[in-house]
Amino acid sequence: MPEGDSVFRLAARLRGSLDGQRLTSGELRSGGAAGTSLDGWRVVEHDTHGKHLLTRFDTGRTLHTHLRMQGSWTITRPGRRVPAAVAGEVRVRMQTEAGSTAWGVSLPVVELVDTRDERDVVGHLGPDPLRDDWDAAEARRRVEAADPARTVAAVLLDQRVLAGLGNLWANEVCFLRGVSPFTPVGSVDAAALVRVAARGLRASVRVPGMFQTTTGNTRRGERHWVAGRAGRPCLRCGTTVLVRAEVPDDPGQRRTWWCPSCQPLR
Ligand SMILES: [Zn+2]
Repeated sequence: MPEGDSVFRLAARLRGSLDGQRLTSGELRSGGAAGTSLDGWRVVEHDTHGKHLLTRFDTGRTLHTHLRMQGSWTITRPGRRVPAAVAGEVRVRMQTEAGSTAWGVSLPVVELVDTRDERDVVGHLGPDPLRDDWDAAEARRRVEAADPARTVAAVLLDQRVLAGLGNLWANEVCFLRGVSPFTPVGSVDAAALVRVAARGLRASVRVPGMFQTTTGNTRRGERHWVAGRAGRPCLRCGTTVLVRAEVPDDPGQRRTWWCPSCQPLR
C-alpha cells in the first residue's frame, strides 16, 4: 500500500516529466470535474502532504489525487500509450508539449480545486515529516490529544495526527519503540514515537537504497522487523513474529505484526 514516502517519490517522478510543461492535451475522467479538458494548461509544480498528491496549474487550479490501495501513475514516452488492459481505468491523462504522457490509473480520488482553497482537501491532515513545514511539537501535541485508550497502531495510522504513515510504517515504528501495537497510546512516550516515525520516513526517501527499509538490511525478507514476517523468527530475538487480521477501531481491516518478546503489551 502506498505510504507517504511512496507518494513523495511519485511526486519527484512526475515533477521530472511534467513541471513547467504545457499540456497539449489532457483531461479528467473521474470525480466531480470529470470531462474537464486540461488542454493548454501549464503544470507549475507538484506537492505532497502525507499520501495526498497536489498538481498545481497556471490556471490557479490544483488537481488533488489520492492513490488509496489501488491507484497508480504511469509515464509513457512520446507516441506510447498505456496497455489496452488498463486504458479503461485511466482517470487522468496529461500529455506534455515534450510528448510524454502521465496517466493516472484507478485513482479513487480525483478533484479539481482552486489552488488558494487547497486547505479544503488537505487542511485536516496532521504534520508531515517529509514537508518543509514539518512541526514535531504539533505532531506530539496531536498524539497526546488522541483518545488515550486508542491503540498506538491506530493513532499512528490516523492521518489527522501524523500524515504519511501507512501500515508498514505504523507496525515498524511500534517495533522500533519496543511497544506492542495494541498498547493504549496514552501510556507511550509521544515525543519518542513521533521522533522515530519521522526519522524512518525521512531516511526512506533520503538515504539511497533504503526506501521502506526499516532494519538497515536490504536483503530479501530482512528489510522489515515485523511487517510481513508472520510465523518467522524475530530478527532481533528469534521469537516467532505474530500477526492479527485487523487493528481494532480501524475500518481498513489492516494486518498488524509484532514480536511478543520485543514488544510486550503494557
Ligand atoms: Zn523480538
